[in-house]
Formats: sequence, C-alpha cells, structure tokens
Amino acid sequence: MNAEDVISKLVEGNKRYISGKLSEKDIIKKREGSKTGQKPMATVVCCSDSRVVPEFIFDTNLEEIFTIITAGNVVGGIALGSIEYAVGHLHTPLLIVMGHEKCGAVTAAYDDHKEASITKIVDKIKPAVERTKKGGEKNAEIEEAIKENVKNVIEEIKKSPIVEKALKEGKLKILGMKYYFEDGRVETIN
Ligand SMILES: [Zn+2]
Repeated sequence: MNAEDVISKLVEGNKRYISGKLSEKDIIKKREGSKTGQKPMATVVCCSDSRVVPEFIFDTNLEEIFTIITAGNVVGGIALGSIEYAVGHLHTPLLIVMGHEKCGAVTAAYDDHKEASITKIVDKIKPAVERTKKGGEKNAEIEEAIKENVKNVIEEIKKSPIVEKALKEGKLKILGMKYYFEDGRVETIN
C-alpha cells in the first residue's frame, strides 16, 4: 500500500468509528498470524489520553498501526527513535501526528505549569503556545496551539536523518491531524 491507499483506509475506518459501527475483527486469527513479524501501514504519534485511542479512531486491527504515545504528542530522543524504527525498518508509508481538542498537555503549557518531569513536556509545547497566545479567549487560543504543536512536532520529526531520507525517496508521507471528541472525527491540519 502507498500513503494514499493508507489514508483512504484510515478515513474509511474513521467513518465507521464516527457511526459507532466498528468492523468485526478476528483477533485470534490476526494475533496468531502476527507472530512472525509486523507490517504496519502507518506510524501514528498521538497524545497519552485515555479518550484518544488511534486503533479505535481509525478502526484498525492488530499490526495495522504503529503507535508512539506521549503526553502532548511531543517527541524527544526516545520517541524519535521509535519513529525511526517504524519508518526506517518497518517502512510504514504514512506517518500521522495527531493532536486532539481540549488537550491537557497543551493546556498545561498555556498555563505555564511547572511540576517535576511534566515541565519537560510543557517546555516542548511552549513554542506553539507562544505563537497563539495573544490575550484572546483562552480556549480558542489553546485549540490553535494544539494545531501549532502538531506542526512543530512534524518539523522536529523531519530533522531525523532516517525520516528525511524516506521523505526524499518518496517512501513516506507525513500528515498532521486533530481529533474531535463530539463526533469522533479527525481533520487534517494544513
Ligand atoms: Zn492531550
């Protein structure tokens, strides 16, 4: 599958999720079939939030998406290494960075929250908040910062030589997305 095929498949899966009618999955067959290796179709970087579950959101089965989950969907050395493994070794043709509305991590950055290792996450998100915090309505500015943060994370991922190589060779497409709770939709961020 190329990136466009994967996008179509994920969009279809998201439509099923929105409707609340997920596809039937033969988990036992898939589980047994996966013991010899994995060939996921997409790498998904998303936020550590119990309400935001990519396998549900895109209605995927085992072995279909390779997820990297961190609060605020930020990446650093270790998360980036996981992405490089997925892109460089598993050759996923699509990489999605998915933020979501009402993100607690982005809100913490907006509020300049400082606490133990949470500060490290907040610091990563701060450049996005600095671009959108202009003394306007707080919630609206946070929603904009969520999109900015996705864009910043994509730029950071692009600095990886493995990702850069895959992009240059036309073997990878990167997409920014935002998830909405009200109806379960995901929208592309431009
Ligand atoms: Zn979040």
